[in-house]
Amino acid sequence: MPPSLGAHFFASLLNPGVSLLLAVAFGLLWRHNRSQLYPKLAAYCYAVMTAAFVLAELIGPEYRVLSFVANIGFLLSSVLMSASIIIRYEVGIPFFLYSLIFTLMVSSYSMVSFVDNCLPCRLYDVNFALGSVSLLTAFKMSKAQRRHVIDNILFSLCFLVSANYFIRPVLLSVLFSDNFSAFHESLYWATTIFAQIMISVAVALNLLIAIAVDQMMELRREANTDKLSGLLNRHGFDHALQTLRDAERDKDEPIALVIADLDHFKRINDTFGHGVGDAVIAAFGCVVRDTLYDRWIAARFGGEEFSILMYGVTIPEAYGICEKIRKNFETHCRDNMSGRLRATVSIGLTPGALSSDIKRLYTEADSALYEAKRAGRNNVKIHVIDENVEGFLSRKSESCLRRVVS
Ligand code: GH3
Ligand code: MG
Ligand code: MG
Repeated sequence: MPPSLGAHFFASLLNPGVSLLLAVAFGLLWRHNRSQLYPKLAAYCYAVMTAAFVLAELIGPEYRVLSFVANIGFLLSSVLMSASIIIRYEVGIPFFLYSLIFTLMVSSYSMVSFVDNCLPCRLYDVNFALGSVSLLTAFKMSKAQRRHVIDNILFSLCFLVSANYFIRPVLLSVLFSDNFSAFHESLYWATTIFAQIMISVAVALNLLIAIAVDQMMELRREANTDKLSGLLNRHGFDHALQTLRDAERDKDEPIALVIADLDHFKRINDTFGHGVGDAVIAAFGCVVRDTLYDRWIAARFGGEEFSILMYGVTIPEAYGICEKIRKNFETHCRDNMSGRLRATVSIGLTPGALSSDIKRLYTEADSALYEAKRAGRNNVKIHVIDENVEGFLSRKSESCLRRVVS
């Protein structure tokens, strides 16, 4: 029976109304940025939830087929929300487990609804299925890297939501002897309305904050990246260096600062055109990215000049890697670009420690680069080593070598 006009009627509008507003909000967000799938899934989740709530509010549990459809809607919307959360962490959607929960719920619900006609059994059935989806979401999140505080809040929320589904119906029937009769007046339905609004709003707020955080991080990443080479830009390099220094404050590991400059680049531009010049810059970025180790920092400083900070390396190791970059770049351009094009790079490198004055290291690496150019280009030169730095490096060399090789 439809609820009569009054307090009850307006209470019954709360969930469909809130779900509808959230569906529209996420739909608008998705329209704004179509590359992100999770606002779209969240919009579908709340749209399905709206329909399910309208149906559940309009009919009583005596309409067994329609109740069944409404409960399928609730389960579908919770699967959509789960997928929307999981997809953000790039850990793979558990399609098989979703299908398993769906199949178990549908088959047991059919039994307790159409064979036994047991209302409490039906409610337990639906709630346990919804709780399982929340637990599955938490499990998938536990496998992912949770970088932001909002990730941990969302993770905890999944447990709270599953507790709501697993514990609330049992508690109500055991402690309050709720037998779920006069369904829309029952304690079960009143607490469902309240709990579901809290869940919908809490999850939506978390997702909205997560979207805002992701977009801010994306903007920061774009601001720190050089589009052409795919490496960092100068600002990104400085930021990454500061982050590394903050993280490794206690260990003053050896580093090598490298400056690389493409040879006769103006001639390449003049002969083959600016587009080919750009492709050569992109190719160098690619070669450098392939050679980088974890926590090393590489950037394009503008034009055809690049800088790499190699962390935890000895001079021979750093030199070997610079040689590898030089050779790989020459081979890559020879094999992949116009037959006459010959692109090479000159590299200057200087050793130091993470705490060294970076400006001094730039000057030293730059003078080594100048030497490399003077020596005929397409080679690697090392800045003359200060005695103290040499002693420091040889002390650390063994452990460093192990780290780089592994
Ligand atoms: P050297 O071997 O001594 O380094 O000579 P070079 O010709 O490489 O050096 P020079 O400084 O004379 O020329 C650098 C050229 O790089 C000039 C400039 O037009 C070109 N350039 C700077 N930025 C870009 C870019 O983003 N794309 C392209 N295609 N060319 C660029
Ligand atoms: Mg040059
Ligand atoms: Mg230059």
